[in-house]
Amino acid sequence: MRVRFAPSPTGALHIGGARTALYNWLLARGADGTLVLRIEDTDRERSTPENVAQILEALAWLQIDFDEGPISQVARSDRHGEVLQRLLDDGRAYRCTATGDDVKAYKAQHGADRGFRGSDEGEGAVRLRVPDEGATIVHDVIRGDTSFAHVHLDDPVIARADGSVLYNFAVAVDDLDAHITHIVRGEDHLSNTPKQLLVLEAMAASGLAAEAGAGEAAVQPVYAHLPLLHGPDGKKLSKRHGAASVQDLRDAGYLPEAVRNYLALLGWGDADDETILSTDQLVERFSLERVSRNPAQFDERKLRWLNGRYVRALSIDDLTARLEAFTGRRGLRDAVEISREKMQTLADFWPLAGFIFDGPADDEKARAKWLDEEGRAALADAHTALASLDAFTLETTQAALEVVVAARECKPKQVFQPIRVALAGTAVSPGIFETLSVLGREEALGRIDAALKDAR
Ligand code: GLU
Repeated sequence: MRVRFAPSPTGALHIGGARTALYNWLLARGADGTLVLRIEDTDRERSTPENVAQILEALAWLQIDFDEGPISQVARSDRHGEVLQRLLDDGRAYRCTATGDDVKAYKAQHGADRGFRGSDEGEGAVRLRVPDEGATIVHDVIRGDTSFAHVHLDDPVIARADGSVLYNFAVAVDDLDAHITHIVRGEDHLSNTPKQLLVLEAMAASGLAAEAGAGEAAVQPVYAHLPLLHGPDGKKLSKRHGAASVQDLRDAGYLPEAVRNYLALLGWGDADDETILSTDQLVERFSLERVSRNPAQFDERKLRWLNGRYVRALSIDDLTARLEAFTGRRGLRDAVEISREKMQTLADFWPLAGFIFDGPADDEKARAKWLDEEGRAALADAHTALASLDAFTLETTQAALEVVVAARECKPKQVFQPIRVALAGTAVSPGIFETLSVLGREEALGRIDAALKDAR
């Protein structure tokens, strides 16, 4: 099996493109196959080196690796010209000046469902000669076989009058030369498929497939056109739905292995989209036959949930290393240990635990609510109890504060929340005893003192 991923570097790698890359990768890895990366950079204005770099970076982040490439499509233009000339020399293609209006006139005369046939004028755009008999059959694993009777197909234009080839021609030449046997891509390319197959067949008929060492499987590749991704509202996935590109997902603090898991399940019928499957399990189980024909729904809330499961499954060391890379800060281990249960993404960490390093936040509402007269009285009692401790640990602080709660005959939160606000500046934080012990006696008592002196 030889598959390829062929992004156009006109922007960031979108989530749909990432899913296409992942499906190709899973197939190749599961079948001992080869994955080729081809950069379809023929749109010279929008295909920038920066866009190529960001696609490569996104794939690297997802840990999707390639066996061959990246191959630049533009760099192969001499080869495209060579194949074009060969088809012209063999009479499988011809030059013709017919315009769109000429095609219309042809159809008015011959019937609307008659494919256009031009005449060889030796000048103008290059059209591929479609044989009048027979049919081109698209084998699509997801959609079944579709037959296109040749009499209905127009002779497609494959190059402009100046000899520059068109997109569908370049793709077919590149796929054949790379011996691609399975073409897995978005369903927006469905309508290109018969044209590309006709080019493959013409190349085979001219002996070009054999010369390129491409077997029958590359002349009649198996296709899989993947249904589009929609957002939870049923509309085509876009920035409106939150993260739209792989970079967005990375910046939002998702783990690559969770993203792979979630993307693999999107539209693939083996399991629902809340199942945890390791990458090895995905490689082992993935099959194109089970990809649904219906649009798949990308729901970031489900990804968040799944990511939280992955976050909690990481060792503290591993999670710490990732958070240190994500935040650019060092020395996070103790804070990570006490925050892990409350995080779903790496981005959740700093808002939750940043106060440990940068001092209390300034949440006006939380102060007003919990540091009123009663709250400050509870806080003063807590300070006294904590200050008298010899050892300042999870157990000792907990025991001391339980005594305060009992003595004040109040609810635990009427003591704990004022402490939380004093330490964190806000009403959300990791567990209160854990936070006290991570901050340590001096820092914790200092913050409580400061909150008591704060006249606001
Ligand atoms: N370059 C195309 C895209 O980015 C993919 C073409 C293909 O896979 O055949 O949508």
